[in-house]
Amino acid sequence: MKFENNIEFAMQLDSNDPLHSYRMKFHIPRTPAGKDVIYFAGNSLGLQPKSVRACVEQELLDWETMGVEGHMHAKHPWLPYHEFLTSQTAELVGAKPEEVVNMNSLSVNLHLMMVSFYRPTKARNKILIEANAFPSDHYAVQSQIKFHGYDPAESLLEMKPREGEVTIRTEDILDRIEKEGDSIALIMFAGVNYYTGQAFEFEKITDAGHKKGCMVGFDLAHASGNLKLELNKWECDFAVWCSYKYLNGGPGAIAGAFVHKKHLLDMTIPKFWGWWGQDKATRFLMDHDFRPIPTVESWQLSNPPILQLAALRASLDIFHEAGMSALRAKSELLTGFAEYLINENNNGNIEIITPAEINERGCQLSIRAKQSGKALHSKLNEAGIICDWREPDVIRIAPVPLYNTFADVWNFVKLLYS
Ligand SMILES: *Cc1c(COP(=O)(O)O)cnc(C)c1O
Repeated sequence: MKFENNIEFAMQLDSNDPLHSYRMKFHIPRTPAGKDVIYFAGNSLGLQPKSVRACVEQELLDWETMGVEGHMHAKHPWLPYHEFLTSQTAELVGAKPEEVVNMNSLSVNLHLMMVSFYRPTKARNKILIEANAFPSDHYAVQSQIKFHGYDPAESLLEMKPREGEVTIRTEDILDRIEKEGDSIALIMFAGVNYYTGQAFEFEKITDAGHKKGCMVGFDLAHASGNLKLELNKWECDFAVWCSYKYLNGGPGAIAGAFVHKKHLLDMTIPKFWGWWGQDKATRFLMDHDFRPIPTVESWQLSNPPILQLAALRASLDIFHEAGMSALRAKSELLTGFAEYLINENNNGNIEIITPAEINERGCQLSIRAKQSGKALHSKLNEAGIICDWREPDVIRIAPVPLYNTFADVWNFVKLLYS
């Protein structure tokens, strides 16, 4: 689309937007003066769907009036409650229903997946990760390496951008895998890097890893609810994500996990066991023989937090109704418009470090403010724009297709250069 640099054009995009009414389904925070903020922090904490309250209150009511009977007799019984989210979660990440489950939190799930899919041997004990991966992911892989008796200084391979570049070239990743793959046990990448906003090429990385006999897993914290994912088709071995960013599941929301179908019946894969992974038909015999559920649910340890599942369920309904294809189509336009306006009005202080190639990014743009970035961020904040600051000089903005408008984008860029 050919964009134009004026507010009328932004408003026209809004009135042509088939998803425009979805904004009404969310609570938009206000400034002290009572104006809607421009909320560009959906990559940190997504906004609250208005439907969440009724969903959570239903469970509070059933607990209030039924106590333990709610496990069987709540309007939405708690015993199978997580199953009510399965098909929509599968749809969201492009998986089969038996491949996805909502459980625990992200870093916990990452560890549980590494218990199963990082099985180092003397000849093959390395993990390949992005050098600027999110700290928790770095801590998780380091500690897994140490847990198995290896030394992160030798067993942790970090993928860095080329000298003078900010994002990592796919060809360099594939080349590294080709050269060092024989010693790599696990390739663990983000779906979208939290800092640069770079989306990685899942299928190419997965194929290259598999050719060399490596396991390949993805952290989708910044990808789920943002990109159109095809985890089953891409044959990733596992993936994990949190649900409080683009998925609008609420602070500390219950997280998700994917294990590819090909691994589900493999009894040789080590796994930590808990009673919620036990065969459902005979779980309450309370015997001590573990018969795993033949789906990814066998990775569940505990009975899950129903209030959190209820909140996430309300949000997944919205994703299901809107559809990831339509959301992604709007997202490309919305972020494309932001990129156009930033470049069109550029005063030399701003550089977008997120890839310009649409397939290499989600909705986030990371903007490097060359001078007085922090002051610029404060100014934006005071003007009612919620976006975040990452040291040393990056402002991250995430125009989210569910609740952001083209006018939001216009107003933001106007302030950015005011
Ligand atoms: C947000 C984020 C996390 C946060 O981990 P929690 O376990 O949810 O606290 C971890 N990794 C990545 C890549 C993230 O973006």
